Amino acid sequence: MTDNELLAELLLPDIKHTPEYFEEKFPPRELKEGARVTRVAPSPTGYLHLGTLFTALVNRICATSSGGVFYTRIEDTDKKREIKGGIENIIDGLNRFGIEIDEGFISGNEEKGNYGPYQQSHRAEIYKTYAKMLIKKGLAYPCFCTAEELEEVRKEQEKNKIRTGYHGEYAKHRNITYSEAKELVEKGLPFVIRLRSGGNEENRIRFEDAIKGKIEMPENDEDFVLLKSDGIPTYHFAHAVDDHLMRTTHVLRGDEWISSVPKHIELFKVLGFKPPKYGHISPIMKLDNGSKRKISKRKDPEAAVHFFIEEGYEPCSVIEYLMTIAASDYEDFRRAEKGADYRTFKFNLKRMSVSGALFDENKLNDVSKMMIAAMDSSAVYEKLTAWAKEFDKEYYDILTASPEFTRKMLAIDRDGAKKPRKDIAKWSEVKDYYRYFFNSLYTPSFELPENIEKQDAITFLSEYKKVYDENDDRQAWFDKIKLICPTLSFAAETKDYKANPEKYKGSAGDLSTLLRIAITSRRNTPDLCSIMAVLGRDEDIKRIDDMIKYLSGEING
Ligand code: GLU
Repeated sequence: MTDNELLAELLLPDIKHTPEYFEEKFPPRELKEGARVTRVAPSPTGYLHLGTLFTALVNRICATSSGGVFYTRIEDTDKKREIKGGIENIIDGLNRFGIEIDEGFISGNEEKGNYGPYQQSHRAEIYKTYAKMLIKKGLAYPCFCTAEELEEVRKEQEKNKIRTGYHGEYAKHRNITYSEAKELVEKGLPFVIRLRSGGNEENRIRFEDAIKGKIEMPENDEDFVLLKSDGIPTYHFAHAVDDHLMRTTHVLRGDEWISSVPKHIELFKVLGFKPPKYGHISPIMKLDNGSKRKISKRKDPEAAVHFFIEEGYEPCSVIEYLMTIAASDYEDFRRAEKGADYRTFKFNLKRMSVSGALFDENKLNDVSKMMIAAMDSSAVYEKLTAWAKEFDKEYYDILTASPEFTRKMLAIDRDGAKKPRKDIAKWSEVKDYYRYFFNSLYTPSFELPENIEKQDAITFLSEYKKVYDENDDRQAWFDKIKLICPTLSFAAETKDYKANPEKYKGSAGDLSTLLRIAITSRRNTPDLCSIMAVLGRDEDIKRIDDMIKYLSGEING
């Protein structure tokens, strides 16, 4: 045995397999030419974040549009930051947003696929096998430095204005011999395994980022850690081993990793792996006091995707909105293919924003209104009540007390409408928006339009009551308002009013606003004739009477 082989046995005696074993166990995938294998690799440290959802979406659509595979991998090497239920939170979140997972974790506790385990804490043997191979080849070595020693070196480097890190002459154990290492191991000293870097800071590496284009950086020359003292791999090492063995073709990840690419390229080289194509995704940004910054988990509630669910945004709206951020040509696609599934969009990584797109709540609301306007009343009923059941139990009970009534309410200006009203962006708005449909939620507040006097209002409402017929269609309904106009010196036709405004007190439109206020206390609602039909004759008359009483009281009192 060579010294390097002895060293490898000394450091990792329990590892019996060689890399060939895993290479055979996880052979290249048989996929059609050009099919991409992508993944999202979250750490289970909290809730699903908007950035993770966005990354997952980009990876998913990239796999879909090439007929490839998208999988999930749990990167749980930092046990200190892990939270209970973390995997479930994230995977359930992806499922909820309709991100289909072909392989890897498909729920909090189920994995599928032939390239697992898909959880790094269950892959210790694999990492150690590759580390052992590197030690045998003299490409990695043990380092026994304590945290204090490393800190000392760092301070010295800072003092002498030298790049900090474990490189060159500062790599204390770089040339450790087998017998030196043996002595320290036998003393029971903890050690990490480091890469023996062959790189030189003076050299440049170039690579083509699938999103950001050509990038050039200094080569890595740091003997960075591969396995920590507890045998757990660093992100760098696990990334190389996992993405190779899981046969990932495209690593599309947050751009905080871009500075690590030289390390990764060197690792793929020493391990004898073909590097994947990298694409670095810019974070979603937010405007804060006029300047752009990354959405922050600490400061912004919308950083956690759960926020959108609680607010009652439909997952499909959030996804549709994220697609507009992901691809600059997505809106053209949407205009051309109104009802098409977003998954049929031909996604091109080159169309992604290089600098980070701004999160725009108004835009999200517009997209969302469009999505909800495209649903029929039964879909809206299902989704609204499902949301209310989870987040507003009181409202859920109100909505479901008479499903028939609620469905009719939701059908107004929607079912069969040529242009359905684009008025609801999220379910949490609905309660207030349709408040006047439910007496338990509604307290009238009557405010007259400026150009209608109290006495005229009373006269109109009293006359209207006499002719109101709940079976009238929209036209007949409006004709009845018009009919009352001359009695009050209001113009039945808007054009007459416009031509001679001095001749009239107002127009039929103003009187219909008055009626709208009587019924709903609002000036702007969906079609009033339909609202009145849904509320029913008794309720309509009662509300009209209430307003008459209110106005008379004001006059008399
Ligand atoms: N666990 C890493 C992260 O959450 C994954 C990065 C990657 O996709 O490789 O940032």
